[in-house]
Amino acid sequence: MIRLTPEENDRKCEECGKGLHGRIDQRFCNDLCRNDYNRKKRLFEKSIEPPFIRQVINVIRRNHKILERYNDGSDNRLVSRQELIERGFSFKFFTSIYQTQKGDIYHYVFDYGWLATESGKILLVRKIEQADI
Ligand SMILES: [Zn+2]
Repeated sequence: MIRLTPEENDRKCEECGKGLHGRIDQRFCNDLCRNDYNRKKRLFEKSIEPPFIRQVINVIRRNHKILERYNDGSDNRLVSRQELIERGFSFKFFTSIYQTQKGDIYHYVFDYGWLATESGKILLVRKIEQADI
């Protein structure tokens, strides 16, 4: 039998405060208490996060969805800037930048990217490595 130290013996559920008598790493009485605790924690984290974080994440998500719809498997897809904007694309938000030796600057939303060409058209590309951390 394992002897518990006084602190270990005096453990309490982090949600309701009832005494715990189970495994030493037990933090909650049951799933209900664990779920309540995690739900409150998420709500708290959301409430302290500035709203623009969620909004920008949503714009990036939408940008990715739009670029994904254009992906037909071909390498060079040219679209007009206006067409992308009309579909709700925002050129302001992206996740990474890649500059070629030639000086071309590609903007990426995870794996999908674009290059503003001299003709004014937008070249759409895909590079899975751009989404690697
Ligand atoms: Zn509890």
